[in-house]
Amino acid sequence: MTDCIFCKIVSGEIPSYTVYEDDVVKAFLDISQGTPGHTLVVPKKHVPDLFAYDEKLAAEVFSRLPKIARAVKASNPAIKGMNVINNNGKVAYQSVFHSHIHLIPRYSDQDDFKMIFKDNSGKYDEAKYKQIQQSIIDHMDDDND
Ligand code: 5GP
Ligand code: ZN
Repeated sequence: MTDCIFCKIVSGEIPSYTVYEDDVVKAFLDISQGTPGHTLVVPKKHVPDLFAYDEKLAAEVFSRLPKIARAVKASNPAIKGMNVINNNGKVAYQSVFHSHIHLIPRYSDQDDFKMIFKDNSGKYDEAKYKQIQQSIIDHMDDDND
């Protein structure tokens, strides 16, 4: 895609601090460095978000994450854990519409990364859970239509 910043990083038109590259993915430091070592893994093929992956691309991209994550973790003994995040859609904080996976090293619960989601389990009842469950199940084979 001509106007995509990550396609330009993949092609080398825009420079990046690349830490891993093969025929399927490129991994490079996120410019924001939310925490030191914050790395993005992007498929070389332009896909906007997770919803656009087929099984083959998903297997190829996601199977590469553990190796890259282990190298990032091993790069600094102060890294104690890692959040792996993939934002899909503006409402979910996606700002670059070339799919990417964030590897965010964690140093302590006081470092510069926060993630909050509410526990609404008290508000839901059996009927609501069942209706949500069934609605998802009903769409599970949409790919094959
Ligand atoms: P999103 O919000 O879409 O999940 O994440 C996009 C990420 O891309 C952000 O964390 C942002 O810092 C990073 N980013 C945006 N432009 C560039 C760039 O030109 N180079 C690099 N290395 N990262 C970028
Ligand atoms: Zn792209």
